[in-house]
Amino acid sequence: MAELTLTRICKSFGALDVIKGIDLDVRSGEFVVFVGPSGCGKSTLLRIIAGLEESTSGALTIGGKDVTHAEPSERGIAMVFQSYALYPHMTVAENIGFGLSLARRPKAEIEAKVRAAAETLQLTHLLDRKPKALSGGQRQRVAIGRAIVRDPKVFLFDEPLSNLDASLRAQMRLEIAELHARLKTTMIYVTHDQVEAMTMADKIVVLNGGRVEQVGSPMELYRKPVTPFVAGFIGSPK
Ligand code: ADP
Ligand code: MG
Repeated sequence: MAELTLTRICKSFGALDVIKGIDLDVRSGEFVVFVGPSGCGKSTLLRIIAGLEESTSGALTIGGKDVTHAEPSERGIAMVFQSYALYPHMTVAENIGFGLSLARRPKAEIEAKVRAAAETLQLTHLLDRKPKALSGGQRQRVAIGRAIVRDPKVFLFDEPLSNLDASLRAQMRLEIAELHARLKTTMIYVTHDQVEAMTMADKIVVLNGGRVEQVGSPMELYRKPVTPFVAGFIGSPK
């Protein structure tokens, strides 16, 4: 069953048409990568799924429920951004649990969830530290922890590794893949990096100019690109 469906999603900012009619099904547990050049609408599409931006037209369902006009908090999603936006004055534990504190969850529940997320992400020994004492990769793990404690049905990642250096990026790619294998949650991952797309995705959605150029497995796109754009984009990694 489809976990998430987009039906003819369009988005304009004034006279600027950014998303031009996107249809897409994402299956439960799938790791889907949106890839495409800068400015093609990847972040906008992700923000529409998250509910941070309303589509101009079209419909969105998550878990079979129409959430086209639902508040972000009603969608069962959690988003991890490129800039980690951790609170500098809070500890790692407080940062991970912050969303749950805001939602006034019981203290014991928050502590248990923070502990479990920290174990999953190998942050247990750092729970009392402040963000400034952490490496870039550790900070990114805290940002992922903040998403995990909310038990989302769908994780959304917007270029989460683009601030990291190449070797750390490679390591975090593996860690996110392991996280997906462990949690088996649906994940949508945005990147402009062809290597990330080819190595991480069950399914790649190639976006170009606000439209879907092709959807397929990395192998299908590599073997049978349907447009010269896809062939050039997938065929010439950085
Ligand atoms: P990507 O993430 O693929 O780089 P974006 O989704 O951020 O692309 O942006 C797609 C296009 O929409 C760009 O031309 C960008 O300038 C424009 N855009 C994005 N957000 C807004 C906004 N809030 N207001 C006006 N234009 C926007
Ligand atoms: Mg973007």
